[in-house]
Amino acid sequence: MDGFENMEVVNKNIEIRIYPTKMDKNDNGEKTASINKIESNIGIYRFIYDEELEFINNFRRLLIQHGYDDKVKVNDSSCSVILKMLRQQYPFLKKAESSSRQQAQRDLINAFNRFYNHDLKSNYPVLKTRKKVKKFTFRIMNNNNNVRITKDKKRYYKIKLAKLGIVKFKTSKKYKELLIQGSDPNDSSVIIKHVTVKRVNDAYYAVFNIEYIHIPETITGPLMQVGIDIGCSKLAVISNGEEIPNLDLNEETENIIRYQKDMDRRKPGSIRYEESRRLYNKWMRKLINKREDYYNKNVAYIVKNSSFVAVQNENVISWKHNKCLSHGIQLNAPRSFLDKLERKCEDKDVEFVKVPRNFPSTQICSNCKKRNKKISGLGNIKIRDWDCPHCHAHHNRDVNAAKNILDKGLENRRDDGAVKIPQN
Ligand SMILES: [Zn+2]
Repeated sequence: MDGFENMEVVNKNIEIRIYPTKMDKNDNGEKTASINKIESNIGIYRFIYDEELEFINNFRRLLIQHGYDDKVKVNDSSCSVILKMLRQQYPFLKKAESSSRQQAQRDLINAFNRFYNHDLKSNYPVLKTRKKVKKFTFRIMNNNNNVRITKDKKRYYKIKLAKLGIVKFKTSKKYKELLIQGSDPNDSSVIIKHVTVKRVNDAYYAVFNIEYIHIPETITGPLMQVGIDIGCSKLAVISNGEEIPNLDLNEETENIIRYQKDMDRRKPGSIRYEESRRLYNKWMRKLINKREDYYNKNVAYIVKNSSFVAVQNENVISWKHNKCLSHGIQLNAPRSFLDKLERKCEDKDVEFVKVPRNFPSTQICSNCKKRNKKISGLGNIKIRDWDCPHCHAHHNRDVNAAKNILDKGLENRRDDGAVKIPQN
């Protein structure tokens, strides 16, 4: 079997929407991972992080007062002593998942390691309660299959989050299958390593970190070699002339702006404020989901039909400063589209090449390869079609750029021994 020589172990995060209930138990008396329990674990994570950091800060102050070097060694053993004392002082900490307690500590140690690493130039760790953190998470390690998919008493599939209990979820068939395999102790082809529970825009997610053996699929049918130009009026243009239009997100954006304004007007904590916040989060989720879905579908289409993909590493940040471009680009986040494309290509063993940012893909005539400087610069971005002054070929700006990106990509491809297929 040819394919097995290329087998590799893949580590991947899969994100699944979960629906925690208000009650701690369901009608059948089974323990459920309720909103309360999840929020309490998120809170405990922050509490431990902050208390340990406060302890270290006080210790540093003492060292400085007595004229010592303030470099405190922050490692597992020193933090575990602090955690032990905290647990005696605050009995409620015992309610948290032990691995989520340890995770807070591990994150704090990492923050100090980053701070002491001079190459990284990281800041001194800050208290989570004082920082306006938008990340509300905690992590549970999978020990003895305590994180898995299981059936409840009514025989519905639920996610079990260790001692927190079971929770309803929604996901694709493919992800569900992977998790079922990962939950079977006799099946070692998929392993669930840990799960991170997070809250984003009022919705809860379980991010499973899984490891599985990937066997490359065999190629069927003729595949394209494509160059892709990321645009602003369109999401992308492919060198074969196909266009991927931008997604219409007007309704979502209007509502997001509307409820954002409502929140600014209202008093935080009031009923009206909470209602606008709920609606704001709802529309934000809608926008993100719609965009992700659209990107995934288009990425899947490109990857399925291609053997070689070249893109240009666009300078998206400099685009942001250009007024005429910025709005559409921020909504449509081409960076995340390119990242998705790259990951999917790796996943499916499609060759993926990035062409340097400074390559003048729009200015070169893809026919005679001569440069036409008249269409360079953001000022000339409105020129959609042009004729080459040298060979008189007629070009669509974006398709021409995509063709050049493909040619440059083929030139730069990693395995130099490969046969270069000429484009017509
Ligand atoms: Zn030409």
